[in-house]
Amino acid sequence: MEKLQQLYEGKAKKVYATADENLYIVSYKDDATAFNGLKKGTIAGKGVINNRMSNMLMQMLEQHGVPTHFVRELSDRETLVKKVSIVPLEVIIRNISAGSFAKRYGVEEGIVFDAPTIEFSYKNDDLGDPLLNRYHALALKLATPEEIDTIERYAFKVNEVLKAYFLDLNITLVDFKLEFGRLPDGTIVLADEISPDTCRFWDKDTGEKLDKDRFRRDLGGVEDAYQEVMRRLTGKQGNRPTNRRE
Ligand code: ADP
Ligand code: UDP
Repeated sequence: MEKLQQLYEGKAKKVYATADENLYIVSYKDDATAFNGLKKGTIAGKGVINNRMSNMLMQMLEQHGVPTHFVRELSDRETLVKKVSIVPLEVIIRNISAGSFAKRYGVEEGIVFDAPTIEFSYKNDDLGDPLLNRYHALALKLATPEEIDTIERYAFKVNEVLKAYFLDLNITLVDFKLEFGRLPDGTIVLADEISPDTCRFWDKDTGEKLDKDRFRRDLGGVEDAYQEVMRRLTGKQGNRPTNRRE
C-alpha cells in the first residue's frame, strides 16, 4: 500500500490517503510540542518508537476486545490504519494525580486514586482543548449518548489492560489520553496513538519519569526515556532488536 496525497500534517504525525478509500497511512514524526504548541522541539527517534509501541499496544488491546484502527505496520514510521471520523474528544484516564489534574485541584502529584477517573476535553486547538463533561459533549453534538457510553467502557478497559501490562514491565501507568473514531458503519474504534507522548509512565521502583514530561519540564534524557520503555516492551515480547547496544 502506497501513500497518495498528504491530507493532514499534525503536531506529531502526517496522514496520507491511499488507493483504498477506507484506509489511511499515518507517518510518525520526531517533532514534539507541548502546552498547546507553545513549546516546540525534536525528540530523535521518537517517531519510530511511537509507531512501533502504539502498534504493539493496539494489537494487544484488540486481543482483549477493544477494536482499534490498526491494520498493518508498513515501516519504521508508517502504519496502515482504518480511516475514521475522529470523535472530537480527548479522553483522559487517570490512576494517579499528575499534570493538569494536580494543578487544577491544587493537589500534589502522586496521589493514588481508589478508582480511575475519566475526563473529556473538546479537541479544538484554537480553544486550547477545554475540559467538558458528558452533557456539554451532548449539547455540542460531539457524540451520541450511546457513543459516549461505548467510549467510556473502552477507555476503562484499555486502562485495565495497559495498567497490568505495564506493571509487569515495572512501569506505573499514571494517566493517558485516548482518541476514538467512527468507521463508515458507525462502529466506534480506538484511533490515534498510545505512546510516551500520550501516557505518563513512572518507573515503579524509582518513580523516574519515562514519558513526555521529560520534554515538557526540561528534565533531560528524553530520548533515553522513550527508548527505555520500548526496550522493556520489546524485551517482554521476545523480539528485541538485534542491533541494540547494552
Ligand atoms: P494533532 O492533530 O493533535 O496535531 P497528530 O500530529 O498526531 O495530532 O495528527 C494526527 C491526526 O490524525 C490527529 O488529528 C488524529 O485525531 C487523526 N487521526 C488519528 N487516527 C486517525 C484515523 N484512523 N483516521 C483519521 N484520522 C485519524
Ligand atoms: N495528553 C495528551 N494530549 C493532550 C493532553 C494530554 O496526550 O493534548 C495526555 C498527557 O500525556 C497525559 C494525560 O493526557 O498522559 C493527562 O494530561 P494532563 O491533563 O495532565 O495535561 P498536561 O499536564 O499534559 O497539560
